[in-house]
Amino acid sequence: MTRKLKKALTRPVDAGKHLNTEPTILEQWEIPQETTHARLTIRMDDGSLKSFRAWRCRYDDTRGPTKGGIRFHQSVTADEVETFAFLMTFKCAVMNLPFGGAKGGVQIDPLSLSKTELERLARRYVQVFAKVIGPNRDIPAPDVYTNAMIMAWMADEYASIVGEWTPAVITGKPISLGGSLGRDDATARGGYYLLESLAKDLGLTPGARAAIQGYGNAGSHMAQLLESAGYKVVAVSDSKGAISCPAGLDIKKLNAAKERHGSVTNFAGSDGVSRIAADELISVDCDLLVLAAMEDMIHAGNAANVKAPIILELANSPITPEADEILENRGVVVLPDILANAGGVTVSYFEWVQNRQGDYWPIEDIHARLKTKMEEEGAAIWACAKDKNITLRSAAYVHALSRLVDAIY
Ligand code: GLU
Repeated sequence: MTRKLKKALTRPVDAGKHLNTEPTILEQWEIPQETTHARLTIRMDDGSLKSFRAWRCRYDDTRGPTKGGIRFHQSVTADEVETFAFLMTFKCAVMNLPFGGAKGGVQIDPLSLSKTELERLARRYVQVFAKVIGPNRDIPAPDVYTNAMIMAWMADEYASIVGEWTPAVITGKPISLGGSLGRDDATARGGYYLLESLAKDLGLTPGARAAIQGYGNAGSHMAQLLESAGYKVVAVSDSKGAISCPAGLDIKKLNAAKERHGSVTNFAGSDGVSRIAADELISVDCDLLVLAAMEDMIHAGNAANVKAPIILELANSPITPEADEILENRGVVVLPDILANAGGVTVSYFEWVQNRQGDYWPIEDIHARLKTKMEEEGAAIWACAKDKNITLRSAAYVHALSRLVDAIY
């Protein structure tokens, strides 16, 4: 078994003990159901051919067709794709969505491609994996460095392969092509609704100070939501570095600076905003730390530096199991990824339902349904953690595992 997956599997094994699950039931989830590895060769703009490694892993379809994003990143490996597909299996079970888990990836630096090369790569991905995906089999979506435009090319390619428009094969599409309202900020909004519903229990009050690591789709939307709810966003970071502003950043102005110059660091120098080292972000003095960048950002080597009493995981797997233990011993409350960032896949589910019904819901309905789901599953996991005296992460795995085991018996 590969390294990352092996580490990730310690979490359901631990949860199984709280459920007295028969170990042979858990054993099946040590092996991904189906991983397809392929070569994607595309024509570059200069006429040359280039080949890239690509994967799609359907980790487990016990609870329904598999679901999960496709990431374009230079560090993507088979191990990583399988680990994230495993996480999706538990995430969908946490939210009670009728889906199993999947993930896809292409090992490439997407910023090195032109728009036409990116389109060829997206279409090639669907050509190669056309038999793996399908509206009742496996439904991709956006993930790191993929977006609505890429989903549109993929949906279009799939339609031309099967000979009919099949919007439910992929989610996160543009609204004009059958996408759902509210999918763009769904990951952040789900995390925000969760925070809001647990604020009393967590002791979070208006005016609380938040630091956000990562300023992509999830991080930037979270900054906006937190600011409008009265939080002070006192530090943010992106791949170029970090900035801090103890009085609270002006998010509109920050977004304008990022839009103009490409990085949040370009906002340093204005209105009491100063530049700090990127790795200082997690140790900023604040009430809430939002992790919205990449995986393994808090590990055994830096977990002791975290000052915030509460961490919200908007990225997938931003805290290693070793760091989990350190944080737990220090009393830091972690709102775990498979619950806290599940808003994205939940609105993806709404999109899939709308595509199948041909009936499209107003934004108010999307927000209300998402809020209810986050509140319900959040409250159940909170109660389970209290009842069993375990972390919220363990409780989320117990919650998901009981649904998975239920589906097998
Ligand atoms: N990539 C997102 C995730 O990791 C969304 C997946 C989806 O919408 O299917 O949850």
